[in-house]
Amino acid sequence: MPREKAHDLKSPRFAGDPALEACYDNKRLLRVGDSGPAVVKIQQALIDAGFPLPRFGADGDFGAETKAAVQNYQRAHGLAVDGIIGPTTMGSLDAQFASTPPASFKKALFRDTFCPVNNASNASSANFSLSEFRCHDGTDVPEKFRGNVQQVMDNLEVLRTVLGNKSITINSGYRTPAYNQSIRGAPQSRHMCGQAADIRVSDHTPTQVADAIETLITSGRMRQGGLGRYSSFVHYDVRGTIARW
Ligand SMILES: [Zn+2]
Repeated sequence: MPREKAHDLKSPRFAGDPALEACYDNKRLLRVGDSGPAVVKIQQALIDAGFPLPRFGADGDFGAETKAAVQNYQRAHGLAVDGIIGPTTMGSLDAQFASTPPASFKKALFRDTFCPVNNASNASSANFSLSEFRCHDGTDVPEKFRGNVQQVMDNLEVLRTVLGNKSITINSGYRTPAYNQSIRGAPQSRHMCGQAADIRVSDHTPTQVADAIETLITSGRMRQGGLGRYSSFVHYDVRGTIARW
């Protein structure tokens, strides 16, 4: 029998962690009931990847909330949805944070080449559906960006809960490059990546909504990204780096 080749994690945040390396090598699993520093690393990675843990954050205990976030991550990435960290999910998370960009990043088409590709067959959450994110020219969100839309939905669910379960209207979700240009959108608008939503929330002013998002980002309950304040709506996106206007 050939000797099994060593199989090492590549991202700085995971590499060398004995429990996570063992998951990647299919020698153990992390699942509900586990706890400790490896669980903290997984939880922080889920939050940073746009799968928030609104109640407990990165507390080191793998409970129901962490399981649900792992399942959302798996669903968005086309993996088996079991809520368990095994070799496949560990490898996928590692690739998200490895220093070299994933191959899919380089295959993106002209004018949206800056967009992270995040393939998924669907995107949905308790209060949002994919059709609400369709471009106003009628184009459906491409599958390569549906995982990004899922991240936006999951973060908006956190906002919706904090604002008293008031309905959130998506004024503008995904935009094709041509449509974005036609409405004079920003040349690198995150709307072209499915990473953005312009929203209104019933019974709340745009200022109240933007202030709530800022607070949730600061406390690690929503993903860092773009926050744009306008007179009649708020722009939010999950680009992962800070942008304010
Ligand atoms: Zn916008």
